[in-house]
Amino acid sequence: MVENARLDTKLVSVDPLNPSLREMQLAANLIRQGEVIAFPTETVYGLGADATNTFAVRKIFEAKNRPQDNPIIVHVASIDQAQKCVTEFPPLAKRLAERFWPGPLTFVLPRSEYISSEVTKNLDTVAIRMPAHKVALLLIEQSGVPIAAPSANLSGKPSPTKAIHVIQDLNGRIPLVLDGGSTLVGVESTVISLVHDPPILLRPGGITLEELRSVISDIVVPPDFSSDQPISPGMKYKHYSPETKLVVILDGHDKSPREIDSIGRAQGGQPLVLCTNSQHQHDLMSILVGKNPQEIQANFFASLRILDEASYDVGIFEGITFEGVGLAVMNRALKAAHEIV
Ligand code: AMP
Ligand code: MG
Repeated sequence: MVENARLDTKLVSVDPLNPSLREMQLAANLIRQGEVIAFPTETVYGLGADATNTFAVRKIFEAKNRPQDNPIIVHVASIDQAQKCVTEFPPLAKRLAERFWPGPLTFVLPRSEYISSEVTKNLDTVAIRMPAHKVALLLIEQSGVPIAAPSANLSGKPSPTKAIHVIQDLNGRIPLVLDGGSTLVGVESTVISLVHDPPILLRPGGITLEELRSVISDIVVPPDFSSDQPISPGMKYKHYSPETKLVVILDGHDKSPREIDSIGRAQGGQPLVLCTNSQHQHDLMSILVGKNPQEIQANFFASLRILDEASYDVGIFEGITFEGVGLAVMNRALKAAHEIV
């Protein structure tokens, strides 16, 4: 194999509501041949390969420089297919699937031999979900195999919510990007472990904790995700990050625009306020990430990419509540932040 060989990356438009069977068959052929392709889901764009083919799955890690110890979520198009991926699909999984599948909820369950250990990185569990997107579902159906797919960004970068974001990160590294427009949810799936009783929330995401609690009364929420846990200012993370410095102001949504602007000015250089309150009138340059929590969630990652595309020196994100969709948004915002105030 020639290392670093650059591929000619094709960008093919597909109708997200009514994808053409011909285009999907071409994409599915690539999956069957052991290639890696990018496709839209309702959460973010995925970088998919045949989850039963070890060599294909290795290409995912290479294409996005994914750390070797990070297991990948497997995407299925039916409950039957999900059941093939695991040794046990408990009644609770059935109830949750009935309520939330297809949709942005991922279950961790005991892995069957059907799934390559390259997907699960030698864990005895596998993470699976059924995406609520016609393109993703048709791709899985036409391929005839479950598709392992992390987000289609370079590791560490903001997740892609438009095909152009995938091209920015992976052009020349993969043969095909299916362009189905902007993703609707805008953050990754919620991940819960069903090998623990009670289940544990492993990652907040597109299904809120409040929605989960309407089906499971008992769910363990680790302190990192809990809103009543004080987050130490100045704490540093590195994930989903723009190159441009990002400052997250806790509760910025409810602070006065004057206070936000003065924090921005104190940063020096040219700040851009990523505003989350449509009532705010800023003196500094600002963009409105969204008028309501859903819109803020859908546009969050794209707004981080704007910081790198434009020549601002620092982004100032007005933090929102940890309730509802706020939990997933703030989880990403705090991981992306270079500074928290
Ligand atoms: P991403 O592919 O970036 O959406 O991330 C997938 C998420 O699912 C990561 O947080 C993984 O750690 C998690 N995950 C995948 N497989 C497993 C598993 N078998 N057990 C626990 N977490 C998992
Ligand atoms: Mg990711």
